[in-house]
Amino acid sequence: MAGLAGFRSVRGHDAAVSLLRRAIANDRVSSVYLFAGPAGVGKDRLAHALAQTMNCRARTDDGDACGACEICLKTARAMHPDVIVLQRELKDPPKDAARDNARDRAEAEALRTRRREEIPEADLRQNITVEQIEELLTRMPFRPHEGATRWVIFREADRLLPAAANKLLKTLEEPPRDTHFVLVTARPSALLTTIRSRCQTVRFGLLAPDDVAAVLRDGAESLSVDPAHIDDLVALGDGSVGRALEFRDREAHKARQAMVDEVLNALRAGSPGVYVTLGERAKELDRHDLDTVLLLLQRYFRHEALQHASARPRQAAVNAARADIVRDTQSLLDGGATPNVQLVLQAMLVRLREARA
Ligand SMILES: [Zn+2]
Repeated sequence: MAGLAGFRSVRGHDAAVSLLRRAIANDRVSSVYLFAGPAGVGKDRLAHALAQTMNCRARTDDGDACGACEICLKTARAMHPDVIVLQRELKDPPKDAARDNARDRAEAEALRTRRREEIPEADLRQNITVEQIEELLTRMPFRPHEGATRWVIFREADRLLPAAANKLLKTLEEPPRDTHFVLVTARPSALLTTIRSRCQTVRFGLLAPDDVAAVLRDGAESLSVDPAHIDDLVALGDGSVGRALEFRDREAHKARQAMVDEVLNALRAGSPGVYVTLGERAKELDRHDLDTVLLLLQRYFRHEALQHASARPRQAAVNAARADIVRDTQSLLDGGATPNVQLVLQAMLVRLREARA
């Protein structure tokens, strides 16, 4: 345990880590941070490391959390009352009253600590609600319980709709004493400008392959990763642990790859009827699966574009254009509003078919 505490538990992101370490050393830790960067690279972990280090009762000589004091242990187990995580809730949360038996308690515990990405999109609310913010604000007048500082970490802060965000605004403007906010997001542009302007932004990039491999190796057991597959997962992950984990389930991966092949076949055959069928099928895919299918398609077209770059430049240009079309589709689906997945996909197929150099 002690080895994996605080900033030591964070792989990569050297610039972000040293910025925060310096802030602690100089007693200039910001009240409101925006952690912005790709999904699945460890932003949330760094937010927790920061909270842990700030509250640790026995920091190491180099200013890191000890990993062994009560505060460190509680923070690592997500049980510290002064580290509040705000994220989208389950549509159908397990009822407190039902937690009387051990199995329900175990389930509730699993839900709390489970990697967020593993909860099917369909089980989650669309956004962080106004009620959640109101509840949070009722806690603000009180001093932190055990820690010297209180931390409020927003996962997927872009899921704060304007109504909820506006409720939060004043508190971000004048944060309660000893309270810090970290807004974590892969889509900073989706946040209100009024919110963003109050944050000190810390940018995250993709991880180096070695760092992705190290995270997967260190967490192999808790992440259910087969050590024999780590190299494959690293290659598929493209610098993101979260993305690498999408490919952990080999059967699911086969199914997605089959969908990719169908799309490519449909493009070659080119009968619009197939597009409708494919669009309908895509509508039924889990959001993560759909994301992954689009990612694989994008990667295929980019690979083709590179492959033909010198010998068949026209072919290469068509494939580059196709990769862009898939990327645009992805951002459209990420856009926050609930798009009609089937129509968006059908439109993508038509554009892919018509793509010209
Ligand atoms: Zn400690």
